[in-house]
Amino acid sequence: MITLDNVTKSYGAFQVLKGCSAEIGRGEVVVVCGPSGSGKSTLIKCINALETFEGGQIWVDGMAVRSGKTDHSALRAKAGMVFQSFELFSHLSILDNIMLAPRLVQKRAKDEIREHAKTLLRRVGLERHADKYPIALSGGQQQRAAIARALAMKPDVMLFDEPTSALDPEMVQEVLQVMTELAREGMTMMCVTHEMGFARQVATRILFVDAGEIVDDCPAAEFFAGRCSVRAQAFLRFEADHPG
Ligand code: ADP
Ligand code: MG
Repeated sequence: MITLDNVTKSYGAFQVLKGCSAEIGRGEVVVVCGPSGSGKSTLIKCINALETFEGGQIWVDGMAVRSGKTDHSALRAKAGMVFQSFELFSHLSILDNIMLAPRLVQKRAKDEIREHAKTLLRRVGLERHADKYPIALSGGQQQRAAIARALAMKPDVMLFDEPTSALDPEMVQEVLQVMTELAREGMTMMCVTHEMGFARQVATRILFVDAGEIVDDCPAAEFFAGRCSVRAQAFLRFEADHPG
């Protein structure tokens, strides 16, 4: 579903990605973790072309990301993205937030887009909030709406960049619950997160990133059993001592 082939990227003289390679198969749930500043956000944003990269290539369902001919809206329809900061459109109702992109870029019937949006709102537990504006919702509700909005494009893969990091602790679980259900339904997911409980329960694989390199790429069970790099083991100890 996603192939990363020797991806390199620099910000000026600073090399943020130092040759990252990985394969993510259909239905896999891959958690990307690692210290702050290691390049996780940059890596995940390269996948749907929110960041450019100079070297290597990324394929999403056979579509090359680094190419003058890449259709960015088709790419982003394939790879939905959820950010730490929700990024809902504040001037649109929740329902309109969800319907906007399909209406603008997909040739689907209006009624079908609306019905699908309502189904998604039910799925994330927001059916009673369809007509509210984002400001009237809690952070957890806004993030669930952002997940529904990404799903509205019928993506093949969902990318998450620390989706619970901006939430008050009591709202983290409701968002992780929606993500867990999505994973159980077979969605291909790549998720940057520090939620190691979620990673243990839901991830099929862990990519541990440090200083711009994928240092570990292994089944979640192996990773959490400590069969990973010394750097990852130190990271796990640190996370265990600093929950949340
Ligand atoms: P992570 O998500 O793992 O915390 P990021 O991918 O956000 O890491 O950032 C990796 C490194 O790249 C950090 O050192 C950060 O300061 C640097 N960086 C990120 N964005 C930019 C930018 N637009 N310009 C320059 N440096 C950046
Ligand atoms: Mg980040």
